[in-house]
Amino acid sequence: MMKGMLVTKRKEKFADPPNFTEKKDYRPADVKETGLSFVGHEISEDRTVMNQFLHYDQLYTIRHGWNSRFFIGLLDGKIMGTRCPKCGDSWVPVRTHCWNLDCNLQRTEWVEMPLTAKVHTWTVAGWSGRSSLKRLPIVLVYAFIGTSKVAMANELHGIHPWEVEFGMPLKIVFKPKEQRVGAVTDFHFEPVDFWKPSPMNQEKQRIKDLVTPVYEWVKTIK
Ligand SMILES: [Zn+2]
Repeated sequence: MMKGMLVTKRKEKFADPPNFTEKKDYRPADVKETGLSFVGHEISEDRTVMNQFLHYDQLYTIRHGWNSRFFIGLLDGKIMGTRCPKCGDSWVPVRTHCWNLDCNLQRTEWVEMPLTAKVHTWTVAGWSGRSSLKRLPIVLVYAFIGTSKVAMANELHGIHPWEVEFGMPLKIVFKPKEQRVGAVTDFHFEPVDFWKPSPMNQEKQRIKDLVTPVYEWVKTIK
């Protein structure tokens, strides 16, 4: 009797398996080992669960579970965050439970974030993996999206590397819909339209001097 009850209880811990009705396979027919490549995904009928297929030497399945709506949002050109209904804190990248001790691991709810952000910190990459060498130097920022209490990393385009400033306002720009794969590389940051860089100073000049040889070197890549 006791044993039966325990089994029933344990079974209730598991959710019903999602019914995957939208499945895409974009693996090229003549696949070459090009390094890391997203090759497909599946989304449940109610669009709350997503699995992605990543080929990196072998095929991997990334099960996004409770975080799925963030990645499905990327396909739709949206930044989905989560928010605690008790204290109001919100997050991108998302948290499934609130981090405030007083909220007692409150389950968060989904919110659509505005496509705006603010630079928290940044760096300039003068070297990279082979697939990105021709795009060097690359500006990488950690930025707060919308009301998020945590920062998210992505590339900042449309700016000279020496012009980036802490706290500068950004917009989020998505790739065209047909090129999106539900990964963070579906979007990048750009300065907002009204933003103007501050005048040249010693620190900016230092960074400019550092990246100038990188631009020269990139021109020599075949
Ligand atoms: Zn909370």
